[in-house]
Amino acid sequence: MKFGGTSVADIERIRHVATLVKREVERGNKVAVVVSAMAGETNKLVAWTNDAARPEGASRAELPDQREYDVVVAAGEQITAGLLSITLNAMGLKARSWLGWQVPINTSAVHGSARIEGVPASDMKTAIENGEIAVVAGFQGVAPGVRISTLGRGGSDTSAVAVAAGIGAARCDIYTDVDGVYTTDPRIVPKARRLEKIAYEEMLEMASLGAKVLQTRSVEIAMLHRVPTRVLSTFTPDVGGTLLCDEEDIVEKKPVTGIAYSRDEAKITLHKVPDRPGVASAIFGPLADAGVNVDMIVQNVSEDGKTTDLTFTCTRGELPRALAAIEARAQEIQYRDVTHDSAVAKISIIGIGMRAHPGVASTMFRTLSDKGINIQVISTSEIKVSVLIAEEYVELAVRALHSAYELDAA
Ligand code: ASP
Ligand code: MG
Repeated sequence: MKFGGTSVADIERIRHVATLVKREVERGNKVAVVVSAMAGETNKLVAWTNDAARPEGASRAELPDQREYDVVVAAGEQITAGLLSITLNAMGLKARSWLGWQVPINTSAVHGSARIEGVPASDMKTAIENGEIAVVAGFQGVAPGVRISTLGRGGSDTSAVAVAAGIGAARCDIYTDVDGVYTTDPRIVPKARRLEKIAYEEMLEMASLGAKVLQTRSVEIAMLHRVPTRVLSTFTPDVGGTLLCDEEDIVEKKPVTGIAYSRDEAKITLHKVPDRPGVASAIFGPLADAGVNVDMIVQNVSEDGKTTDLTFTCTRGELPRALAAIEARAQEIQYRDVTHDSAVAKISIIGIGMRAHPGVASTMFRTLSDKGINIQVISTSEIKVSVLIAEEYVELAVRALHSAYELDAA
């Protein structure tokens, strides 16, 4: 069982969480619980690290040492793990807390966004088998050199699925503040529907393309280890829920299962770059070296056979680094000029049913054109189509597509 920040936001809510754990134990199950920090705590800790890293009198902060950043931000989860254990014990149950290094949850050395490399939780497994509830601090692990690490924001989802895989759990229940995965963001489309089931692959696309229900890495681990994972609400645990499962377990395959969007996009265009071998590599090599994750790319046909325009996207946070990397190589790349735009957003339609249905992309393009929305860049995979549009049209586009693919609730 995993509980997110809003589910453990204060002692009263932690008590409620404890009753859900108790219920599971009374059903005859053995339980490991993974907890997030209380809502707002991690943000507060992050802000402290930035304040501490600011040299006296300077207005701009240096980046804090990432190993010490992890020591600080991991603290939020330690508090909740202890508080939930105390609460469970006070209710007459047997429970103890486990920090990342105690489990251990072994991770890479990339502090601030470490990857889990293994969860050899043998002592914890024994404790669980002996009837003790294991309360695990999410988000944190232990990196080489016995340094505390964290898994990136939203990382306690990943802790939960990795712990479930590590101890061979029958199920991983992610309790959160929504009662499942929806066809799209219900704040934009009130007619969005909760999905009973979603294939791992679809959920992976949904999460990486902007849906905020689960951390992307957690879905990867669930898919890799085939962990049956449910998303359900802490506040209404008996209604709804969405099961992440194998494709074969989904009977009704509509062409499109869900629509995701992301506003964290920026577009860069290089005008009049020479149309000859080696140019793309001269552009994207330095971007990779600068740690820029390039997402969509489009290269126009060259009208005169000599020069062409090349457009790509990255996150808004990476835009300054991307521009610096390009401008540093201006001589070599020989573009005429470079323009950029941060007022763009990416809309994606996702569905395994797409493989078997022709015309899915054309419906998307027609729907957007009917609304007068211009498509700037397109990218596709077997089970998704993404388009880049002006940010001001996000709501309109998502609503129109939601109806066009017949996803609206009756
Ligand atoms: N507390 C961490 C965060 O706010 C991890 C999590 O909640 O999943 O990002
Ligand atoms: Mg979360």
